[in-house]
Amino acid sequence: MLVGIARMASESELLEAKSRVHYFEIAARSILNRTKPGMPFRWTINPYRGCEFGCKYCYARYTHEFMEMDVRDFEDKIYAKPAAAHLLRQELARIDRSEGIAIGTATDPYQPAERWFGRTRTILEVFARQSGWHLGLITKSDLVLRDLDLLREVARRNVFHVVLTITTLNEKLARLLEPRAPRPDLRLKAVTQLSDAGLMVGVNPNPIMPLITDSEAHLGRLAKAARDAGAQYFGGGPLFLMPCAQKVFFPFLDEHFPALAPHYRAQFEKSAYLGKDYKETLRARVQRIRDRYGFRSSPVEYRPELWPTEEQGTLFPLQ
Ligand code: SF4
Repeated sequence: MLVGIARMASESELLEAKSRVHYFEIAARSILNRTKPGMPFRWTINPYRGCEFGCKYCYARYTHEFMEMDVRDFEDKIYAKPAAAHLLRQELARIDRSEGIAIGTATDPYQPAERWFGRTRTILEVFARQSGWHLGLITKSDLVLRDLDLLREVARRNVFHVVLTITTLNEKLARLLEPRAPRPDLRLKAVTQLSDAGLMVGVNPNPIMPLITDSEAHLGRLAKAARDAGAQYFGGGPLFLMPCAQKVFFPFLDEHFPALAPHYRAQFEKSAYLGKDYKETLRARVQRIRDRYGFRSSPVEYRPELWPTEEQGTLFPLQ
């Protein structure tokens, strides 16, 4: 018998199907989710469950396993959570404003479902009427530009940064790794437009994949393009492969990188994480690249124009 989230998923009404992707709405107990200790932010908001971009290395596939589905359903069965503004305001009233909130940690907030459901936009509209929050949003999609004015208003009132994940500039490789995500050049264009609009924007090359995207030359090209596009910081962390991700990534390697497949299996079947030596080498490499292009590793703190102690203005009518 299905219980909890698995039962809620099985009872969700199918709203629309386009080719192989099916969209549903699903109930959720809360909009804010608390993270485990040690994360750089305290709360996350993921407006969707499942992500149509279908990255081969995606670690969030476990969320569909919780619903007693196959990990491959993660990219084909997309569930929109409720994003009722009044619920979010109620939850925000109960937490400390100094605790960071990250939007889009487990699924992309600007995946195609957002065009129809608009859940991410609803959430941002709440923050565009409040101030004093520390917020981050991470995406692979240039759809983020749809909300440029809204994002600027959020950043006028809150410490806010946007991160574009770009693992490679090689379009063919990106298509293999992230089959339904926007092309790397579109993501870079989004970086430029966000930066030109005065937003704090970073580029994240994660996950950096051994012998696929981890060479100094590859990462250097990416960092240079990020700097030229106006990014202010450059992330960088190695691949990890939980068992749910291995189920997709290993067959992917068998098909496209057969010479690498045995090495990856040997490494990750013992642990989801790469060894200390590799991590140390990569950390030093990424730092050299940051130094070369004048990057920080994390967003710059800034004082928004309308921080709570100052006079408030509003671009959007209050409800
Ligand atoms: S964009 Fe992020 S959440 Fe979506 S499939 Fe790729 S890694 Fe997973």
